[in-house]
Amino acid sequence: MTLLTRTEAILADLIAFPTVSIDPNVEMMAYMATLLEDAGARVELFHDATGKKANLFGTIGPDCEGGIVLSGHSDVVPVTDQDWSTDPFALSERGDFLMGRGTCDMKGFIAATIAMAKPYAAHTLRRPIHFCFTHDEETGCVGAKSLVPELQKRGYKPSIAIIGEPTEMRIIEGHKGCCEYTTRFTGLEGHGSNPDRGVNAVAYAVKYATRLMELAEELKTRAPRDSRFDPAWTTVNIGRLHGGHAHNVIPGKAELEWEMRPVQYGDGEFLREMLESYIETDLLPAMRAVSPRADITTQIIGEVVGLEPMEVNMARTLIAALTGCETADVVPFNTEAGLFQQLGMSAVVCGPGSIAQAHKPDEYLARAQLADCLTMLDGLGQSCAE
Ligand SMILES: [Zn+2]
Repeated sequence: MTLLTRTEAILADLIAFPTVSIDPNVEMMAYMATLLEDAGARVELFHDATGKKANLFGTIGPDCEGGIVLSGHSDVVPVTDQDWSTDPFALSERGDFLMGRGTCDMKGFIAATIAMAKPYAAHTLRRPIHFCFTHDEETGCVGAKSLVPELQKRGYKPSIAIIGEPTEMRIIEGHKGCCEYTTRFTGLEGHGSNPDRGVNAVAYAVKYATRLMELAEELKTRAPRDSRFDPAWTTVNIGRLHGGHAHNVIPGKAELEWEMRPVQYGDGEFLREMLESYIETDLLPAMRAVSPRADITTQIIGEVVGLEPMEVNMARTLIAALTGCETADVVPFNTEAGLFQQLGMSAVVCGPGSIAQAHKPDEYLARAQLADCLTMLDGLGQSCAE
């Protein structure tokens, strides 16, 4: 059996696990753990509190720092309300395309890495190769966020992370983060005829929103000079403002839903500090002068850090050497790469298939892409063995 046919057989098994983000993934994780262990990997599964979801971390090669992480998420997006011409959870072939939910996003990459486990184990590796498979990426990198501290606890210090999201095997060295927040304003209700006796939650939400938009303008001036993002700077969007009942009632509650897409880590810190100081020195004192119970709280709905392009990026250098791809791009979609970068690793996104097919009905992966991915992974094993 060639590596490609072996990869396709594993992919068929993976597609048959309907690991939509809201559903369990433990069976698929157990299946992958068995295959990796059979190949000689040391594997650990990390279950979440429900026991229905798990992350997997496996290692082939020496127990030392400086390893290479091959990372993929096990979950897929739902197929509800999508018009599929085949069963999305049964791998089918259409010419040179492999069709099924998750083929390109991103079980194809995962299958290729698992197929490589035996060839990797056959080498005498001088640096370890790690397999890192997570749950709930599509719903905000939930699994990766819980796995990162576990890896830190165990003292793992890999130096490179390859995240196999579909990039048609191009090298992606940067993407923005995505952070969503809901800010809630608690004021004091009252009759509209005497506004000063109440604390108008909507009015304070508007002040806050105004400050947010001022800061959004300031963020434009903070864009890195050579930024390749579009737009080049960290953006802020106010998506929803809700509050109040009627013309003549002072609203006691208001809610603001907003997001920030940072191009660099420092921008998030900047925005947080500026907003906190505005709340502490301006808004809250004025609100509490009327009602001591007035409050402003911000709930984090999701925070996915970006992948910041770096001048020196060992992951980029390695993948460029393996694929012959001389350029690296930035993309508008999110991945888990930023989490690895925050751990101190250099990271790139590079995987088979196109993001154009991800999340769509009749999602597919070109067989040639899978073959290119195997060539890259094979070279990666050799580079770790030299
Ligand atoms: Zn994905």
